[in-house]
Amino acid sequence: MHELSLATSLINLIEREAAKSGFMAVLEVQIEVGDLSGVEADAFGSALELLVSDTILSGAEITILRTPGHGKCNTCDREFLMTTRTDTCPGCKAFPSEISGGEEFRVVSMVAE
Ligand SMILES: [Zn+2]
Repeated sequence: MHELSLATSLINLIEREAAKSGFMAVLEVQIEVGDLSGVEADAFGSALELLVSDTILSGAEITILRTPGHGKCNTCDREFLMTTRTDTCPGCKAFPSEISGGEEFRVVSMVAE
């Protein structure tokens, strides 16, 4: 499962960061997952929950922020919400559109001690 390996990488990344900064525990972490990032936010959240025990993230409050996909039509300049990257423009049905949001997959904030 793709999300499981992403969750593992994220935990490793945070543990490396913590070791560098001398943190003992992560209290809160917010992760942004865009709807067009290719990451299934719910599956990723469950994978993370499974994996955090015995890591620096055990006991941390983990929040997953979902960012909706945004597109801008290359033909008529209309801006609209996208649920998949292959969505066509709701106005003129043109494809492709420029993706202007929803591809994020990153840690946006972390509280550690
Ligand atoms: Zn259009």
